Amino acid sequence: MTPKDLPQDLVFFERGWLSSNTVLLRGDDPVVIDSGHTSHAKLLASLIQHRLGPQAPTKLINTHLHSDHCGGNAHLLDIWPQLDTWVPQRVLNATNMWDEHRLTFADLGQHCPRFKAQSPLEAGQTLLLNKRVWEIHDGPGHDADSVLLFAPHERILISADALWENGFGVLFDALQNLSGFDQQEKTLDLIESLNPQWVLPGHGGPFNDIKSAITRARGRLAHWRHEPQSHAQHAAHVLIKFHLMVRQSIAVAHLLQWAQEVRLLQRIHQDFHGEDTFDTWFMHRIESLCLKKALRMKQGHVIDV
Ligand SMILES: [Zn+2]
Repeated sequence: MTPKDLPQDLVFFERGWLSSNTVLLRGDDPVVIDSGHTSHAKLLASLIQHRLGPQAPTKLINTHLHSDHCGGNAHLLDIWPQLDTWVPQRVLNATNMWDEHRLTFADLGQHCPRFKAQSPLEAGQTLLLNKRVWEIHDGPGHDADSVLLFAPHERILISADALWENGFGVLFDALQNLSGFDQQEKTLDLIESLNPQWVLPGHGGPFNDIKSAITRARGRLAHWRHEPQSHAQHAAHVLIKFHLMVRQSIAVAHLLQWAQEVRLLQRIHQDFHGEDTFDTWFMHRIESLCLKKALRMKQGHVIDV
């Protein structure tokens, strides 16, 4: 869905929560921004083909390298091997070396098919994409290396997971050190100063009541800054729910086995809930997600809802 008063050459594919949204910039050199999760990669390719017809995209840009934003890259590169792939400069080498720790897939317990990238995205850079200038800005907080794209003439912001209509993504930076909350605050300040007319977020629909969205985001940030343990618990819930969205249904014993290898879950347990054993704490998380009706249990299996 693309709202009518957004430029017609800009196509917004709003996806479910497992896959990030994708923005397609149409023109002589079509550009794909973010590619969703690997499990929806074929669907994304057909959505792009449907819009472009015989034309092929020439550039693939990733705002950040979480598996729900770049999981479709490998499949798109299979179809269009000439795609020039752009990732944030600080993770360009790690991408080409496929360093799964630096890229955080291993720590978050996520899977992303390997791909290569050629071109760096750096704050301060401007890209001319089909006659529209896009500024690249740093947007740390959710992800230390995330970038935002801003078209100053029409004041359109591609915000990734730094700002959604109702909140923002888990502040992974804040789980490493508390300065992650400050990073997110700076990113919200930056977005406010850019004064966008439209925000195309990484998840959920596009929105133009930016003032209200920033107020809600600041409220959430203040709450989490005050109670980092509730932010950490939310992060654990997001990681578990995400895994279930991928797997759909999984035996409790296998889920526990997966969780024991997810470093970030181990760290959250140690830092915030060390009084219980990991397994006890983890099963409380599952119960809590079942109470919220985000998951359910049936015959020794945890099932996504
Ligand atoms: Zn993300």
